[in-house]
Amino acid sequence: MRLLQNTFVGLWLASSVFAQLPGNGDPSLEVADWPPGPGSLLVPQQPDAELTAMMSQVDPARVQAIITKLVSFGTRNTMSSQTDPNRGIGAARDWIAAQMRTFAATSEGRMTVDTPSYIQAAKGSILFPTNISNVVATLKGSIDPTRIYVVSGHYDSRNSNVSDFTNDAPGANDDGSGVAVAMELARVMATHKPGATIMFAAVAGEEQSLFGSAFMASTLASDGANVEGMLNNDIVGSSTGDDGTKDPFTIRMFAQGIPPTETLAQIQSRVSIGAENDSPIRQLGRFVVEVASNPVTQMNVQMEYRPDRYLRGGDHESFLAHGYPAVRFTEPRENFAHQHQNVRVQNGVQFGDLVEFCDFDFNARVARVNGVALWSLAQAPGTPRGLTLDTSMLTNNSTLKWTPDPLAASYEVVWRASEDTMWTHVIPVGNVSSATILLSKDNVQFGVRAVGANGFKSPAAFQAF
Ligand SMILES: [Zn+2]
Repeated sequence: MRLLQNTFVGLWLASSVFAQLPGNGDPSLEVADWPPGPGSLLVPQQPDAELTAMMSQVDPARVQAIITKLVSFGTRNTMSSQTDPNRGIGAARDWIAAQMRTFAATSEGRMTVDTPSYIQAAKGSILFPTNISNVVATLKGSIDPTRIYVVSGHYDSRNSNVSDFTNDAPGANDDGSGVAVAMELARVMATHKPGATIMFAAVAGEEQSLFGSAFMASTLASDGANVEGMLNNDIVGSSTGDDGTKDPFTIRMFAQGIPPTETLAQIQSRVSIGAENDSPIRQLGRFVVEVASNPVTQMNVQMEYRPDRYLRGGDHESFLAHGYPAVRFTEPRENFAHQHQNVRVQNGVQFGDLVEFCDFDFNARVARVNGVALWSLAQAPGTPRGLTLDTSMLTNNSTLKWTPDPLAASYEVVWRASEDTMWTHVIPVGNVSSATILLSKDNVQFGVRAVGANGFKSPAAFQAF
């Protein structure tokens, strides 16, 4: 779609501006298709039959049931009761874990459910030592189990006062909607065999300072876990903005450019080769746009480049802090009267994060976006490692080298004009570990992706620097 937009804009420019210039040859070629180069236009990879069937099982009625049950616990503030069987975050945690165990029971032993926890000392809006407990269902990969992908939502909630742990905080959209994504995908994927491992997480303590996700990410990092992608779902349950505008077929995905773990020297190297838009985070984002904007999800994934720490921060930041690629999904049109508000009617306006404001069909489509992305990641080989672009000689060719992966059946070089946002061209190069492309590295960005024997393709790797 972006390519079509680019082409359209290019043709418009060509006809309006360049056509008036003398001796300019074919303007559409010069503007829209520059630089010319080898390969064919990239056609987005499509879900296969198994994935399509799996996504048809994602059920809006189940999403509705999950969110309605979570809201029934009254408040899920992180400091609310851990022991009351009916009200508070402890009851919500136990219910989520019990549901996840019923899904695991269908997995022939591939899925396990844990509730790792720790005691967070009083800090900021955490007023007293508080149990932070995540619920994590892990579906072990059958081919490459040490490679991990994570999908999450946060099951804690808040009202106007982040430290109010007694009054109602329904948290239907923020973030019952994200928990519903993780739970519904755990249910439909439990009976299948992904190549790599998928973790379905409901985390706590998000509202106070991302405590649960920080605990999860730091535990993974200290275990040396290879997390190659993390999808955070936070406020993905409504398609109607505060002005009443509906946008039910778009989901925003916030994908930061430069990883926060890079040193100043690394950032300077990145800038020196024009790689500001080619971090592993952006490659993950491009991958999700490519695989998950299609008739199976009925969604258009809109990659956003602005990571606002205050409004668009969230649990993905905990993973970014350990160098793991991570993105956040959020509905395209928000209504801030329905987030972080005490339930009340004021001047005839209903405030509060209530079930009645949710769009379960939209939420289910967001779950399918996550599901298609996760499954496509887990079925493909990992992102190629050790990619280098030879810049030792002045030449109009470009030679790429990478580390062979025994799980890859072949590789593809992808490229795009340096000002484009998405990969536009693809060159199959076979089962090799280097390739020379007749195209100047001064004019384009190059990536390399691995292709499995099953046809699934990895996110692109970008050159080391
Ligand atoms: Zn949230």
